[in-house]
Amino acid sequence: MCGIVGATSERRISEILVEGLKRLEYRGYDSAGLAVLSESGSIECVRRTGKVQALKDAIGDTPLAGTTGIAHTRWATHGGVTEANAHPHISENCIAVVHNGIIENHEKLRAQLQALGYVFNSDTDTEVICHLVHHQRKTESDLFKAVQAAVRQLEGAYGTVVMDCREPGRLVVARSGSPLVIGLGIGENFIASDQLALLPVTRQFMYLEEGDMADITRTSVKVYDRSGALVQRDVHESDGQYDAGGKGQYRHFMLKEIHEQPTAVRNALEGRLVHGQVADDAFGPGSMDLLKDIEHVQIVACGTSYHAGMVARYWLESMAGVSCNVEIASEFRYRKSHVHRNSLLVTISQSGETADTLAALRLSKELSYRGSLTICNVATSSMVRESDLNYMTRAGAEIGVASTKAFTTQLVGLLMLVLAIGQHRGISDKCRNAIVSGLQALPAKLEEALLLSDEIEALAPEFADKFHSLFLGRGTQYPIAMEGALKLKEISYIHAEAYAAGELKHGPLALIDADMPVIVVAPNDELLEKLKSNVEEVRARGGIMYVFADKDAHFKSDTSMRVINVSHCDELIAPIVYTIPLQLLSYFVAIIKGTDVDQPRNLAKSVTVE
Ligand code: GLU
Repeated sequence: MCGIVGATSERRISEILVEGLKRLEYRGYDSAGLAVLSESGSIECVRRTGKVQALKDAIGDTPLAGTTGIAHTRWATHGGVTEANAHPHISENCIAVVHNGIIENHEKLRAQLQALGYVFNSDTDTEVICHLVHHQRKTESDLFKAVQAAVRQLEGAYGTVVMDCREPGRLVVARSGSPLVIGLGIGENFIASDQLALLPVTRQFMYLEEGDMADITRTSVKVYDRSGALVQRDVHESDGQYDAGGKGQYRHFMLKEIHEQPTAVRNALEGRLVHGQVADDAFGPGSMDLLKDIEHVQIVACGTSYHAGMVARYWLESMAGVSCNVEIASEFRYRKSHVHRNSLLVTISQSGETADTLAALRLSKELSYRGSLTICNVATSSMVRESDLNYMTRAGAEIGVASTKAFTTQLVGLLMLVLAIGQHRGISDKCRNAIVSGLQALPAKLEEALLLSDEIEALAPEFADKFHSLFLGRGTQYPIAMEGALKLKEISYIHAEAYAAGELKHGPLALIDADMPVIVVAPNDELLEKLKSNVEEVRARGGIMYVFADKDAHFKSDTSMRVINVSHCDELIAPIVYTIPLQLLSYFVAIIKGTDVDQPRNLAKSVTVE
């Protein structure tokens, strides 16, 4: 979601800014812009709706003259998708600002600034920042102090970068609720909302913490904490591992990431299972001391990660001997919930910056949780830094907005959690062995599931003219049905609902007709016979079904049912294995519909606004 790139250098930086924006494209956005400041103090600003390529085309082949600059991809929250609303916003031809997040008190500030004579050129909440800084700069001696005075008046979330035509070579940045990372160069420095944007120019990074401000010039970086004290933030060397590289042989990042899942799962397990036990540091140093006390698990997440949490509830309660609740973060954070004794707050997030989930983690620190754990893909993220324990999923950069390998590796992390907590709560040998052998067999099982690709591609045309679909599963496959429905919605724009199959007769059966495909997830598990009855209920009402089933489940294709056999796997890992064909189905349907698979409309990766 929305991206920021900034640079101050001796060389012209417009190409670095545009390349940085391109590397953030995957996060989803609707317009892009940049402003560069020359040594003589003139600002040049270019903005375009649509793709970064449109911005690049508008700039042309000659780099702009500026050596200090800021750039932005916008995911509109306030004001439509127009060139006037795209960032940077500029006050009085002098103060230029880019901003990620939402300024909640923008209406009040706008009225105050208008009363002072400022004219607004956009409908965004962001524009109040540049006029406010401009106003403060009239009485403050320098840009840093003016930004400091301005952000004190802001309510809401922001990651913002400001430059001033009177101070070429200087960028002032502030972070509150929206991540920012400084990239350190030689004779040049950079700022971005994600290190990925800066990997072509540096590998040295300094992560800003909540409430931090920074004063950045070509040759110096000064960071101040929320109290205004000068502080030292650690410098991290990136090995570039999180760099996504290109699409390789694949047409889309999503397809590449679907196919990367066997490797991602291997990486997620590497060195963490030792002689059938969870390695002591799998969840971070000292984790076992905390996990041994846990009697209850509260999982909080959004979207796909929420579905991973729902699967984990079945696992934790049936095998680890702890009770478990799972809740959507945006609900959890605004609800007065009961905290169980010795409860572990588990957050799940690909980016570790999901605004609602992060807020839930912060809220948990004011409540009586025994501790917190995050299952996350980005080691430098806010959630990892702010949680007591973490399980890094090591999926590698996930560029497709629709999450795939992040989900399956989250499930691996959650199975490891079952084992780790279970080890202290007398997990049975049978369960332990099933988890260990299931995890060890998983990469190969995922490879087998990927072989279904051609068969699924061939049936995708049958979905292309449909407007609605229904996904059914039971037990751990119910959340997998939910995840399948979410994938289809996200990238093919076909309305998809998931139901626990036993719920059909309580309402959704009324929807069944030949125009609404019903997708059934049917491994050979203990709920198979129950599921078969539900399948018959659909058949009796003229429904058309696509059943992803274990061969031993003995479903047979006929006029009302198309059976896609998924090779046999242990019931325990079936939710992970059956995810693959559903991902492939949504991908191939989207291809036929011609949608923007990697950046579906209206959506963003790393949802940093609430
Ligand atoms: N709220 C701002 C806007 O709508 C910033 C959105 C963003 O984070 O991209 O312009």
